[in-house]
Amino acid sequence: MTAIIQLSKLELSSDYLNKKFNDYRLYTAAILLTLIPLGLAEGIFDYKSHPEIRSELFQLRLYFLLLVIPAWIILKSSSLKLSTATILITLVFSAYLGIKIIEHSGEELVTTVSNVALYPFFIFFVLIGFSIYIQILFLTVAFSFVVLSENHGVLDELIQNVYFQISVQSSVSALLIMLVFSWSYYHRYNLQLALEKSSQTDPLTGVANRRHFDNQLKSETTRSARSSVECALILLDIDHFKRINDTFGHPTGDRVICALADLCVNQSRATDLVARLGGEEFAIILPDTNITDAKNLAERIRKHVEDVYVTSDAGEIVKWTISLGISALPVNKRSANTIEIVMEMFIHQADSALYEAKNKGRNQTVLSQQNTL
Ligand code: GH3
Ligand code: MG
Ligand code: MG
Repeated sequence: MTAIIQLSKLELSSDYLNKKFNDYRLYTAAILLTLIPLGLAEGIFDYKSHPEIRSELFQLRLYFLLLVIPAWIILKSSSLKLSTATILITLVFSAYLGIKIIEHSGEELVTTVSNVALYPFFIFFVLIGFSIYIQILFLTVAFSFVVLSENHGVLDELIQNVYFQISVQSSVSALLIMLVFSWSYYHRYNLQLALEKSSQTDPLTGVANRRHFDNQLKSETTRSARSSVECALILLDIDHFKRINDTFGHPTGDRVICALADLCVNQSRATDLVARLGGEEFAIILPDTNITDAKNLAERIRKHVEDVYVTSDAGEIVKWTISLGISALPVNKRSANTIEIVMEMFIHQADSALYEAKNKGRNQTVLSQQNTL
């Protein structure tokens, strides 16, 4: 039940719908392009069934070539709103074209029945990358159209009954297929999210892993180089961690590592990224932060560590300290360095500051004095 509620909400959320649209973008464009030869090829039947008006019908069928336009927009547009508007206009246009062809061919049963039967599935194929609500809305509109034309007595009653029955069957089938596809896409989406999260997460502490740190640092360095925004980097390392392991055992060492991870997450902002780089070494990327504010955070964490006691398996209290090194962007405007080099120097400077903190006696924060970025 909660999954159904979550899905109903996601089908309205722009992040989810953008991803769904992007995942089906190529498919939707391909379906629209495939409809062109299919629509034109029906002209072959006109040759046999309506030889007297075949050229007139073929002129109408040439309008199928216009489907190139929505296909191109769907393929190129980055706006979901524009794509939704385009596809809805296309559906109305296709319905109109279908009705015109039916009118010209004298409302012949075979053509009309196939249109009534196929249109709900056409809606499903073309709208698969859009919200389930839009799919159902359009299906309902198409169905109401058939019902309304029956009520107005446009056509012979017997034929109308046939249309109505076919329309009910094909609309309900298309609706079921829409629901099944929406449900399976929702599972695929959740699976992808879980996979993405696990590929970015350190299994011991739950904070970001090295891979995610590298990606984020690259994008923050690029952002800083482009728009000269500030960004700071703190490297943290537990002092004499080997001793903790040797004295209290590996599981206690693990608990100390987790305690540091929790502390960093609790002290930093939601926009900061805490990552475990390996062993007992951590990093925090601080977007839009200058070196002074970064130092304040670093000192806050360091002081809190002095109060965080971890108990060993034997129940002893483990006291521990950390050392921290900080560096900061932005890049010097005249710098000709590439993003990769700036990124390397950014880490190197924080690392040198951390090394200095260790050499000066540990349990302290050192700011990078170099400004070679
Ligand atoms: P320093 O103050 O100079 O940083 O000394 P240190 O002892 O902390 O540094 P060193 O690099 O010599 O030791 C790090 C130790 O961390 C060695 C390694 O066995 C241990 N280690 C690495 N990964 C893990 C882990 O996942 N869990 C535990 N418990 N220990 C780990
Ligand atoms: Mg250490
Ligand atoms: Mg270390």
